[in-house]
Amino acid sequence: MARYYLKTYGCKVNQCDSDSLAARLESWGLDRSDDPRSADLCIVNTCTVTAVSDSKCLKALRAARRANPRATIVGTGCLARRDSAKMLSAAGVDSTIDIEDAKGWLDYLKERNIFEGTPRPASGESRRARTRVFVKVQDGCDSFCSYCIVPFVRGEPRSVPLELVRDRVRASVEQGAKEVVLTGIHLGLYGIDMSPRVTLAALLRTLLDGTDIERVRLSSIEVNEVTDELPEVFASSRRLQRHFHIPLQSGDESVLSAMNRHYTADDFRRVTGQIREIDADTGIATDVMVGFPTETDRAFETTLRLAEELEFSRLHVFKYSPRPGTAAEALKNGVPPGVAKERSNRMIELGGHLSERFARRFVGKTVEVLVESKRDPVTGWYGGFSSNYVRTAIRDATADMVNTVARVVVEDTVGANAVATSLAHVAGAGDVKAAHAQRL
Ligand code: SF4
Repeated sequence: MARYYLKTYGCKVNQCDSDSLAARLESWGLDRSDDPRSADLCIVNTCTVTAVSDSKCLKALRAARRANPRATIVGTGCLARRDSAKMLSAAGVDSTIDIEDAKGWLDYLKERNIFEGTPRPASGESRRARTRVFVKVQDGCDSFCSYCIVPFVRGEPRSVPLELVRDRVRASVEQGAKEVVLTGIHLGLYGIDMSPRVTLAALLRTLLDGTDIERVRLSSIEVNEVTDELPEVFASSRRLQRHFHIPLQSGDESVLSAMNRHYTADDFRRVTGQIREIDADTGIATDVMVGFPTETDRAFETTLRLAEELEFSRLHVFKYSPRPGTAAEALKNGVPPGVAKERSNRMIELGGHLSERFARRFVGKTVEVLVESKRDPVTGWYGGFSSNYVRTAIRDATADMVNTVARVVVEDTVGANAVATSLAHVAGAGDVKAAHAQRL
């Protein structure tokens, strides 16, 4: 039986696309291999969001060829869409195929004698049952932020119909999933292409009413898409996890305008305030881009102060990387690399403090953690994420708690992580810090 190896780079949407491709390949009779050396087909699902992503993906393709000179090597995903020629000229790539082109994959596998004509029923989803499942509900973006290549490679916004999302979530529940993370390239645009118009809030209501999923989480949403309707639906159910990811990118209005992002620092103050009115402990994470052309020292300081003021629970810091064909590529007033690096370091340092401060607010409180099968490598404890997305290690968790939602008391923190004990065993927790201190 033919075997395939699949490596994925980039965002959660790419991961969802890989899961769908894997399900398709398996329905055509291929078996997955974790080792490119034993695969007939090696696929790299690529990302092109930065120049670093490009080079990592090309390196992975070359590595697959080196590992297995006899295998068929295929590049797919965003870099393949943006620059197929570059990928084909990178050492040893036999072909590029659009990840969604089912017929293209099938024809190619037949041509290469990889498809053996013994299809299994297609599940439509990866067969691996998981605790937390990413469900793609939307693809594409037409916002054209000036630095972003995504609209050029992912196309117009398009949404997965409500009923189909509901059925996918039901299927995930049947396979044992306790949490779904709704994922999209531009999630807040969910339903914009539908007639009559459907909203993300309506999708959440459908999932709350029409499925038994215990926890629903949103991946990322733009600040001006947090409509009044969304906090309202969050207020209606604790099954909606208390965590938002809202990209700030910059706190300076002239930089935001050069980025073609249409909001202000005050919009962020208003929306974060609205969310915290429902639950003051809601985690609000963000992305910050440093070194964007036109970002002066003053603009950077404004962003730094705003990030601190808004008390984000986590900062994902990115250094600007010019992407060919985007509007920002032509902008003058570039930031010297050394300055961008220094700004990045300062922002990362602030992010560390904010994450630690956020985790500490839960000490002494009871939180619910979805226990994952992966153990802490040092202590051997099971753990998982709280509703607020704080990674929490549970010192008395046992294997039978895996894939359940445990009520635990947070006793301490180590960096941005919490350490906790199950509610049933809260007494005698003295050695928690000592055990974790060994890993530092
Ligand atoms: Fe890119 Fe902006 Fe669209 Fe996000 S909203 S995918 S940053 S263009």
